[in-house]
Amino acid sequence: MSDAALDRLGGVGAAAPALEIRRLTASYSSSPALWDVDALIPSGTLAAIVGPNGAGKSTLLKAAVGLIQPDAGHVLIEGRPAREALDRVAYVPQRDEVDWDFPVTVREVVEMGRYRSAGWISRLRKADHLHVEQALAKVRMTSFAGRQIGELSGGQRQRVFIARALAQDAPVMMLDEPFSGVDVRTEASLLGLLSEIRRTGRTVIVVHHDIGTVRSHFDWALLLNVRTIACGPVQESLSPEALRRAYGGLAGEEGNGEVVWIG
Ligand code: ADP
Ligand code: MG
Repeated sequence: MSDAALDRLGGVGAAAPALEIRRLTASYSSSPALWDVDALIPSGTLAAIVGPNGAGKSTLLKAAVGLIQPDAGHVLIEGRPAREALDRVAYVPQRDEVDWDFPVTVREVVEMGRYRSAGWISRLRKADHLHVEQALAKVRMTSFAGRQIGELSGGQRQRVFIARALAQDAPVMMLDEPFSGVDVRTEASLLGLLSEIRRTGRTVIVVHHDIGTVRSHFDWALLLNVRTIACGPVQESLSPEALRRAYGGLAGEEGNGEVVWIG
């Protein structure tokens, strides 16, 4: 483990981990999607959750933000039980879980990020609108603010959801496969945006398929296949041996179904 990672984990005054999962088991019907999962993601990292299809990556994020009830185990956000710390997390679901035909504009989606702090009943105040405009500008979507979300490209849709997360002003961001269905250039620009958000002191947790980009751009990785395979700084957690255990000989899986072999 690197000194920087150790600094983040321990020492007097060190921040609590952004996300800590202890012995988490979760299931939908009978078979568990997550089994006895332990994981720790230090605060201030750009962290990836990696694993094959059906590994439980989305389930893990949903358990962390209280969308599903685990069978056993605990989720801590910044050292507090997740249910008490949900205002500290901004969550961007996988794109197929969003109804893109819902008649809502880009600005209205980003405004949703403010309602948690403003309250559902109250109207947004001037300061809330300022947050919304700043978030739109940050992701370079100001000129699209009046568009319906259904009229956007895949990359633009991700930008809007990142803006909603930014408007929420939460220190921990969780994004489920934000790069799926976007081209390589858009992926690079979204990655740049997420790295920039991390530099503002936030923790950015991303479910991602591409081991290469995780190695080159991320600090930390949780390698998951129903169980925890590895969790730590990328150079240690994504060892060939751990990848073999997670993928059964496959190093990674692209969104287009291509697989990359290792070893
Ligand atoms: P990943 O995001 O890693 O692809 P998921 O967390 O979506 O994996 O799914 C983990 C397992 O749980 C899979 O076997 C999947 O089929 C199952 N699963 C996911 N969502 C549901 C659901 N709503 N109902 C029943 N089974 C589900
Ligand atoms: Mg998923």
